[in-house]
Amino acid sequence: MSTVLEVRNLQVSFKTHGGEVQAVRGVSFDLKEGETIAIVGESGCGKSVTSQTIMRLLPSPPSVIKGGEILFDGKDLTKVSEKEMEKIRGTQIAMIFQDPMTSLNPTMTVGSQIMEGIIKHQKMNKADAKKKAIEMLRLVGIPSPEKRFNQYPHQFSGGMRQRAMIAIALACAPKVLIADEPTTALDVTIQAQIIDLMKDLQKKIKTSIILITHDLGVVADIAERVVVMYAGKVVESGKLEEIFYNPKHPYTWGLLASMPRLDQTSDQELLPIPGTPPDLFKPPKGCPFAARCKHAMKICLEEMPDTTEVSSTHQVACWLTHPMAPKVEPPAAAVG
Ligand code: SF4
Ligand code: MG
Repeated sequence: MSTVLEVRNLQVSFKTHGGEVQAVRGVSFDLKEGETIAIVGESGCGKSVTSQTIMRLLPSPPSVIKGGEILFDGKDLTKVSEKEMEKIRGTQIAMIFQDPMTSLNPTMTVGSQIMEGIIKHQKMNKADAKKKAIEMLRLVGIPSPEKRFNQYPHQFSGGMRQRAMIAIALACAPKVLIADEPTTALDVTIQAQIIDLMKDLQKKIKTSIILITHDLGVVADIAERVVVMYAGKVVESGKLEEIFYNPKHPYTWGLLASMPRLDQTSDQELLPIPGTPPDLFKPPKGCPFAARCKHAMKICLEEMPDTTEVSSTHQVACWLTHPMAPKVEPPAAAVG
């Protein structure tokens, strides 16, 4: 599989009156053709900042790309002009967000919003664009698409609006779709339907997907690889099975232990991770998870652990992988 997108040592900060917030601190990962990766972590870990930087959606100032590269189609997206980026956004990399109501225009019919991108980017005439828009509505499972084409966003349910957003995003067959918490605002049954839709569409359209989420249940359902972020860094990454059945980082253990499982009995408690992430105005010099980690050693407070390979597909940044470190097993709740 060839690589579609490669993020290398990306660093993004926000300049504020109080100082500089180092939101993304050296993030690297790649995305292969046709695959779905999930970027997971608590809110504030830098996952949305990373995805919005790929799309170059963050206003600058206050945001600044301090370093690194985003390689796509022979270009470094941290360096291309805004004009060039405009062409890439929507046609080659598209994005859907948590709340479709804020991304849909309430004064335009859903159909004309789908048509807009098609006309702009695919140079189709109106009649053909309309046909294509109706076809997209049908593809994303919206019933009576001819009738729905003429309706406004408020006439759609939450789930239908997210389907419409997906139709807009996929109308130009982008190489990469970034989905930032696409199901978080929806209730559980609709969530499952949207995830099924994304899986189904991926088979049909072969778009590579970056799913940004805090919900490991969704990840288990759709992702092939997982990137775990904490305090602006990647702390562990690997294939879905590696992260779910052989997790190595105490933060990943915490995430897994706080996730509801299918085999869980209702009286089994979910274990939230105690404590809060570090202040990114002044990130700690050692491991960012040290203040919350049960296994923290002296060195964890002093030095950031290097990334080590558990396998050729599985990497972790934790001092516990050091040959001199004590043997620590993940808690049963994380791998049970
Ligand atoms: Fe815990 Fe140390 Fe590993 Fe950080 S490096 S997760 S503090 S054991
Ligand atoms: Mg977010």
